[in-house]
Amino acid sequence: MGWVFQGNPKTFDIDDYLSRYPELIYWRTPRYAADIAIGDRAFLWRAGKKSGAIAIGVVVESPTPASRVQHPEALGDDLWIAERPDPAENKTGIRIEELRISPSEMAPRNLVKADSLLATTTLITMPNGTVFRLSAQETEALEKLWGFSSALVGASSASEGERKLRAHYVRERSPRLRADKVAAFRSEHGHLRCEICGHTEVGMYPPPFGDKMFEVHHRAPLAKTTEPIRTTLADLAVLCANCHRSVHSTKAVEDNYKCLVSHFAERS
Ligand SMILES: [Zn+2]
Ligand SMILES: [Zn+2]
Repeated sequence: MGWVFQGNPKTFDIDDYLSRYPELIYWRTPRYAADIAIGDRAFLWRAGKKSGAIAIGVVVESPTPASRVQHPEALGDDLWIAERPDPAENKTGIRIEELRISPSEMAPRNLVKADSLLATTTLITMPNGTVFRLSAQETEALEKLWGFSSALVGASSASEGERKLRAHYVRERSPRLRADKVAAFRSEHGHLRCEICGHTEVGMYPPPFGDKMFEVHHRAPLAKTTEPIRTTLADLAVLCANCHRSVHSTKAVEDNYKCLVSHFAERS
C-alpha cells in the first residue's frame, strides 16, 4: 500500500519545508489515520501550477496528534501561510528518501495522468484532498514513473551516512536558503566574502558575475545530526566555489573545513 500526501503551496511553503528538513517531515493526515502504517511507501505531491510528485519516502511514524509526535521540532509550524496549525491534528512522520523539488526533476501531474492505471486514481480524478490511498499496483506504477529502481531499493538500504550526506546537499542546493543567506550576509557585511579564503565578490569579476561563484555550505556536523534539525541561516556559511569544492573533496567535511580555515588564517 502507498500514500500520496498533497500540499498546497498557497497555504504552506512546501519547498522551504522540504529544504529545511530534508530527512524527516510530518504531513497533515485528516483521513486514513487508522490505515497508514510504518513502512508504507509515501509520496509528497505539490498542488497548484507546478503540480506533481516531488518526494518519495517511507512512513516512519504512524498518524499521531501533532502535540505528541516524536520530533516536534520538525513540524515546520512556522511555515503555514494563512491558517494556524492545530495541535490536535494527526500528522504522519515520513522519512524522505529522495527529493526533487525542481519542476524539471519531479514527476509532473501530466505524466502521472498519462499512465492508464494512475489516471483512474482519486489523485487525478478528485484531486481536492490531503491524503490519497494507492493500491500496491498503483504504488508500483508511481514508483516506476518516479524512476525508482527496485534494484537500488531506494535509500532504505543506503547507509545512514549516505542519507545524511544527501540531506546536507539538499539544504545547500536549496535556491531559497541560498538567496536568504546571501541577502543576510550582504546586509551584515556589505558584500559577499568567502568565509574560508576571504575572496570577495568585488574586484575580480564585473558586477553580474561577482556573486555567481558563491555557494552556501551547511555547517552542522553530519555525524551529529541524529535528530531532524531546522536549518537556520546561522547554520550556513558563504563559501567561494573553490573552497566549497575543497571542503567536500573527501568525506571528512568538518576536518577539511577547519584545515582550510587555519591555512588561510596563517597566511593573513
Ligand atoms: Zn574561498
Ligand atoms: Zn557543503
